[in-house]
Amino acid sequence: MANALPVDSYRHQGLRKLLVRNIMQKGITDPLVLAAIEKVPRHFFFDSSFLEYAYEDKPFSIGAGQTISQPYTVAFQSELLQVKKNDKVLEIGTGSGFQACILAELGAKVFTIERQKTLFDKTSKFLPLIGYHSIKTFFGDGYKGLPTYAPFDKIIVTAAAPYIPDALLEQLKPGGILVIPLGANDVQIMTTVVKEDEKTFVRKEYGTFRFVPMLENKAKEK
Ligand code: SAH
Repeated sequence: MANALPVDSYRHQGLRKLLVRNIMQKGITDPLVLAAIEKVPRHFFFDSSFLEYAYEDKPFSIGAGQTISQPYTVAFQSELLQVKKNDKVLEIGTGSGFQACILAELGAKVFTIERQKTLFDKTSKFLPLIGYHSIKTFFGDGYKGLPTYAPFDKIIVTAAAPYIPDALLEQLKPGGILVIPLGANDVQIMTTVVKEDEKTFVRKEYGTFRFVPMLENKAKEK
């Protein structure tokens, strides 16, 4: 993230159009998701010395050992989430805040949790500066979800989860969808769980992806 707010120039907007074409070729079809990727200036989330990387379809290091997910992955998870306008959506792993902005563009009321204090502080200050005032950021442990604000229409996990936390299933509304990359090793299987009613959960698996690990508890402050 740059200190002074970068400009969203025609060149950046052009690069976003190319990025959208790129992820369409990789199989993303939802027009609302594609429009959201075209709208959010991903280079705002990069330090000014790395702006040229912002519109490559690649993940990128955002410090504190964390990454901003690859645009294709953000789009893929957003598609699976089937966000409807005014859905209450909980995100686990705020990171840079980019995925949260995409969800906000899709019309969601976004609640997002980050376990690293430095990242939480940085991102929660930054999002309102770039116009995303309504995203609610929380410092906490995503394994516990956000019981005070539950239930949610949708929950998206953006870190590699070794298992499905019960709290997240409990905090979904009936009919709600959880999107979670599952797997403790190098690669994870993108998984959706639909909560049909309090006792019925329908699970589906998609391709493999690579995420940084979902770690238990808040990180210790240095
Ligand atoms: N959604 C982010 C991608 C973040 S990478 C973006 O758009 O940039 C995953 C993030 O999950 C990291 O910031 C990491 O610190 C965070 N994380 C890992 N385990 C967590 C947990 N238990 N609760 C909340 N956040 C967690």
